[in-house]
Amino acid sequence: MAIVLLVEVLAVGILVAPLRDGIGPLPESWVLTLGVLVAAGIISTEASLGVERVRQKSSDESPHIDLSSVWAFAAAVLLPGALASAVALAIYGHLYARVWRHSGVPPYRAFFSTATVVLAVEAAAGVTELVAPEALFHSIAGLGAVVLALLAYAAVNMVLVVGVIVLSGPNRDLATFRQMLFCGDEAVLEFATLSMGALAAGAMAALGPAYAVLVLPPLIVLHRTVLVRQLEEEASVDGKTGLLNAAAWHARAGRALRRAEREGGHATALVLDLDHFKLVNDRYGHLVGDQVLAAVADAVRAEVREGDVVGRFGGEEFVVLLPGVVGEDGRAVAAAVAERIRKRIDSMCVDVLDGPVPLMINHLTVSIGGATFPRDGADLGRLLEVADTAMYAAKRAGRNTVRMGMHAVPNGPMVPRPTPYRRT
Ligand code: GH3
Ligand code: MG
Ligand code: MG
Repeated sequence: MAIVLLVEVLAVGILVAPLRDGIGPLPESWVLTLGVLVAAGIISTEASLGVERVRQKSSDESPHIDLSSVWAFAAAVLLPGALASAVALAIYGHLYARVWRHSGVPPYRAFFSTATVVLAVEAAAGVTELVAPEALFHSIAGLGAVVLALLAYAAVNMVLVVGVIVLSGPNRDLATFRQMLFCGDEAVLEFATLSMGALAAGAMAALGPAYAVLVLPPLIVLHRTVLVRQLEEEASVDGKTGLLNAAAWHARAGRALRRAEREGGHATALVLDLDHFKLVNDRYGHLVGDQVLAAVADAVRAEVREGDVVGRFGGEEFVVLLPGVVGEDGRAVAAAVAERIRKRIDSMCVDVLDGPVPLMINHLTVSIGGATFPRDGADLGRLLEVADTAMYAAKRAGRNTVRMGMHAVPNGPMVPRPTPYRRT
């Protein structure tokens, strides 16, 4: 919270400072550039209203790069800091009125986003001001300054936005911060957008402000591809748990399996089914059941590696594909992972909200079956069949247990013991 306030106070301070000294008459070329950039920003927002509203609705946790930074960055390169900030303020004010407000972005968030953009613009303008304007697009030093300005803009903007997201989230550590900063596509998009801003600035400086018009079509196309990618990602995610849904899991697990086949390695499919999950629903209702499913999904994800493929098959069934390392005993490694998952779920205490009453649910258990390529099956369908059979064998063996492969299975009777759940 303190950081948010600091950013906002700094941004307002920077904006207000030049007003105190009074604004003299501005050179005509600056006024023209300012007008063109604000107009271009407004036109590009208007041209992609539909896309931007959908994007705003569907992304809440990730840092959101809006393509208006093309114009804000171009302003930072072409104009002094104060004027460039005024351009950013006008474009983002318009973006708020036309997009953010309709998508339910609260004013304080819009204010913070705009404040980070103002600080980023000031940082970039500070860098480009080190080089004479005539040298900016006509010398190697000028190119260096533009690239440095781009890095400064991206650093200030991303670090502030990601920093606040991480600090207000559950995992406030450096690893989460680094992962959000460098691993998402958003960072790539930020650099692509800023590069377009630099090109727009170059064209405007060398050929004339009207050339900004040529940046609009590629910008709008870039905007659409961003939406397509975002929708693709959403279509592959199970809404309740954030894991891959069945179709997406099949596609990714299939690819991982084919890679294992090519490399002469192995891979193991695990099928997990929560024990007596119906009791949780019967006792506490489906909404609590859903929260438990999400917590179990987090637990499974936490026990596997980054490249492992985790999905929700439906109901209270999960699947994991563990691509192996050549030379390992695939089954032994996978059985150890399955056992870790089983233990973790066995010892889990899930804090849920049941209306206004906080509730802790423990005594959850899971039955896990596994099948390893190539010994248990040559394709994903067969591996799933074997893993499913092994999972049912684990149920018959008393639940809360792991069974690997088709033949490692004692076929005992189904044990009907209901798992006790208790309110604590
Ligand atoms: P076991 O697997 O140990 O034999 O018992 P179970 O009670 O888990 O098995 P069963 O497959 O009969 O029941 C699964 C239950 O999972 C049924 C349903 O109430 C619950 N379930 C399935 N999907 C969802 C869901 O999306 N949300 C919630 N809350 N419950 C779900
Ligand atoms: Mg089931
Ligand atoms: Mg079950």
